Amino acid sequence: MAVIGGGPAGSFFTLHLLKAARSNGFPLKVTLFERKHFELPGPAGCNMCAGILSSRVVMGLQELGLSVPPSVIMGRLRRYMLHWRQTRVAIEPPDPTRQILSVFRGAGPKLGIVPPEASFDTFLLSQAEAAGASVVPEHVLEVTFAPGEPAEVRTAHRHAAFELVVLASGVNARVPTLFGMNYQKPPTVTMAQDEIRLNHPSDPGTVHVYCDEPYGLLFGGLVPKGDYISVSLLGHGLPGRSLEPFLGALRERGVLREDPERLCGCRPRVAIGPASGFYGDRFVAVGDAAVTRLYKDGIGSALHTAKCAAHVVFERGIAGRDFGRYYRPIVQAIAHDNRYGKWLFHMWEHAKGEGLLSTLGQRALLAEGHLAPAWRVHASLLWYMFTGDAPYRSTMLGLLSWPSLRNLFFAAGRRPITRSKLSS
Ligand SMILES: Cc1cc2nc3c(=O)[nH]c(=O)nc-3n(C[C@H](O)[C@H](O)[C@H](O)COP(=O)(O)OP(=O)(O)OC[C@H]3O[C@@H](n4cnc5c(N)ncnc54)[C@H](O)[C@@H]3O)c2cc1C
Repeated sequence: MAVIGGGPAGSFFTLHLLKAARSNGFPLKVTLFERKHFELPGPAGCNMCAGILSSRVVMGLQELGLSVPPSVIMGRLRRYMLHWRQTRVAIEPPDPTRQILSVFRGAGPKLGIVPPEASFDTFLLSQAEAAGASVVPEHVLEVTFAPGEPAEVRTAHRHAAFELVVLASGVNARVPTLFGMNYQKPPTVTMAQDEIRLNHPSDPGTVHVYCDEPYGLLFGGLVPKGDYISVSLLGHGLPGRSLEPFLGALRERGVLREDPERLCGCRPRVAIGPASGFYGDRFVAVGDAAVTRLYKDGIGSALHTAKCAAHVVFERGIAGRDFGRYYRPIVQAIAHDNRYGKWLFHMWEHAKGEGLLSTLGQRALLAEGHLAPAWRVHASLLWYMFTGDAPYRSTMLGLLSWPSLRNLFFAAGRRPITRSKLSS
């Protein structure tokens, strides 16, 4: 079997398939093609992401008998600090037992000094190799599928036939030419990602989220990673130099006390919808190459799709009808949940500006600061939106629930917010 791409989806697929094969005493050969060298710093070795591991990923690793090594953990995230217009609100985890970690995907920023073994993707790929996969450090150029025949995989230096081809190439690389398949990669939007360093780093467990500037910003986050901070901006039509106004605004608000040193930067793409033709006879796509959770917990959904596809391969078969029957519903369920996500982010786009919704939202959050944790409905909902730690559907139902509406109703009667009214 050939797996194209050794990011989270490719490594998780391999780990789950080999685990199932091993526990059933069934010998399986998996060849995993990966074009990048994750032990290199900067974009050359990095799969370009903010590097937040949700509790779903942490628990998923435990299921495989693995845990993120201390050398890979760059931070343990305990709260989000939302800077919203005049308001600053601490968003605490609704369930503090659920761990959220920050990691580097490669060996840190281009101009930084991070040991190669800190890379999360190196850790996962080495686990797949230790489980028995052969890792080929080459770029797959094309695959040819012919009815009833093994698929031919070609790189610049070799070609070989495989019973099954698993596409785990994400959305930031050109898809290999797939002769005999109708695969279309998912629609994407561009994000901005930077790595910075400060002389006086802030609280290592806090992610700062800011949403006012630049124009088009949906939200931007500062994710602490040891001596470094990853900056991720998500928005619509963000200008090419969107980071300067973002960091400038955070300086003005006192979140950053100095001009940061900028060490790395990229403009990666993020998937916003499902791929089409993501399975066929002897072919299946997993991770971002198939579908991902909208804007959040992409590594968690890579784990989920990879695990489900591996189980279908091992327990059902590799024919298009097997994937159609048992794998397609998984992809569709994620795409369906993303519709609620779209709705929530749409609401957020309105709420984060000026107007009644914004005022009510800020007042409700401030008022919740005085309530017991169980009653902080809007803070919990924001936690789930920022971390992706719950399905969008349940987050939306939470927003429409009676306790949420009641808190908004009482917020309407509260005094106006002044900049000095901050919750911490
Ligand atoms: C700015 C940004 C921030 C994000 N932040 C987070 C976050 O904080 N937490 C989170 O969970 N998710 C986050 N995501 C999403 C997350 O990065 C992806 O969902 C996740 O990486 C998907 O894993 P994957 O294995 O499917 O794809 P990728 O991680 O993209 O891996 C694909 C791999 O395939 C390899 N490859 C591609 N083509 C070939 C080929 N032809 N031959 C050989 N190898 C090939 C690539 O080199 C790469 O290593 C973020 C995304 C962006 C853009």
